[in-house]
Amino acid sequence: MIHPEVLELLNAQMNKEFYSWYLYLSVSTYFNSQDLEGFEQWTNAQAQEELMHGMKIYNYILERKGSVDFRDIHKPSMTWASPVEAVSAIYEHERSLSQTIHQILKVAREHADYSAEVFLHWFITEQLEEEVMADRVLQKLKMVGDNSGALLMLDSQITQIAAAASARAAQNA
Ligand code: MG
Repeated sequence: MIHPEVLELLNAQMNKEFYSWYLYLSVSTYFNSQDLEGFEQWTNAQAQEELMHGMKIYNYILERKGSVDFRDIHKPSMTWASPVEAVSAIYEHERSLSQTIHQILKVAREHADYSAEVFLHWFITEQLEEEVMADRVLQKLKMVGDNSGALLMLDSQITQIAAAASARAAQNA
């Protein structure tokens, strides 16, 4: 049986991943309203990935014969003052997701749960990729500043930047 402490943390992480889905979708909605289709597409694709992360944990809990516990999904902000503010929120949330994944791994090790440890390795690699990507976009947005021409250029390149980042991460996986 899965240790209750590990199970509790996995249920909490599942909820957090579902919240990420909401957060990315909220940001995607914002980019839609700004007519920034590249950013909209990037964040929409990320939202789908976050949903998949939540489902991955859901399936793992069932596989381990644990009890799935659904909790309220926190409502994300629906108003963003700027692309920098929106992507900063994503970056901070990705960092927080990484921290809790590391915490689950620590607890899994304490309980000698090697199966959970192997399961979590995938998330650790994935989180690094997502942190790097969010940070890269954030830094570029900061460089763009108030230059709308530069923002439009970045918008047209963003999906390629995302594809290049995930291709590099795939080589490390
Ligand atoms: Mg995730």
